[in-house]
Amino acid sequence: MNLFVANWKMHMTRGEARVYARDLANLLGEGTPDVELVIAPPFTALEEAKDSRKRWSIAAQNVASEFEGAYTGEVSARMLADAGCRYVLVGHSERRRLFAEAGPVLARKLARAREAGLTPIYCVGETREEREEGLTEATLTAQVETLVQDPADAPLVVAYEPVWAIGAGRAATASDVGSCRRLLAELLSGRRDFRLLYGGSVNAENARELLESCGMDGFLIGGASLKASTFARIAGLV
Ligand code: PEP
Repeated sequence: MNLFVANWKMHMTRGEARVYARDLANLLGEGTPDVELVIAPPFTALEEAKDSRKRWSIAAQNVASEFEGAYTGEVSARMLADAGCRYVLVGHSERRRLFAEAGPVLARKLARAREAGLTPIYCVGETREEREEGLTEATLTAQVETLVQDPADAPLVVAYEPVWAIGAGRAATASDVGSCRRLLAELLSGRRDFRLLYGGSVNAENARELLESCGMDGFLIGGASLKASTFARIAGLV
């Protein structure tokens, strides 16, 4: 079953989240979608973004690397599980770039997520400079190494998000995505089962063709997920 994850980033008040959830529920109608839908709202809107009929689940956008304690401003994995999250994003490029999160801290976040029973959506992807310098393979290999301690028998979602395609208005081509899909499959298969998403400027216009041609299991969607109707169109539901 394909997986579509809406990453709202730092958007949506509680009231806006409520309207979104109502709109999405109306679009889905009585049926059960034949795809898996996940919404990753800001912490403050976790409750409002939920579906009482559980047609989609909820992800957190971030998690503390420590279990609990004097970490002002942090939210623990146990709190997220208690708040109803099923998934958590780990290693999003905005966290890596703007908050200097790198391998060791991300490995701790993965461990905390597992302790709380959350499934990580682990994001990887090369920057434009790395791509231009021919470092895509080395970058993805190093990022995948962070998973070395993650239990191989636990469910895992990996999101390939080339940083140069995020918020750029132009997605990577199917052939770019396809070659990184093969690389990531090579790096991880044999070691474990995982689902692989693509993220980076997916929208209602390019989603179908990209999904059919790139061989991924679904998408992680930022900007275009902020309207329930567009998210539903990307997921092929309307
Ligand atoms: C993202 O940041 O995870 C993302 C995919 O963003 P966008 O769809 O806006 O490129």
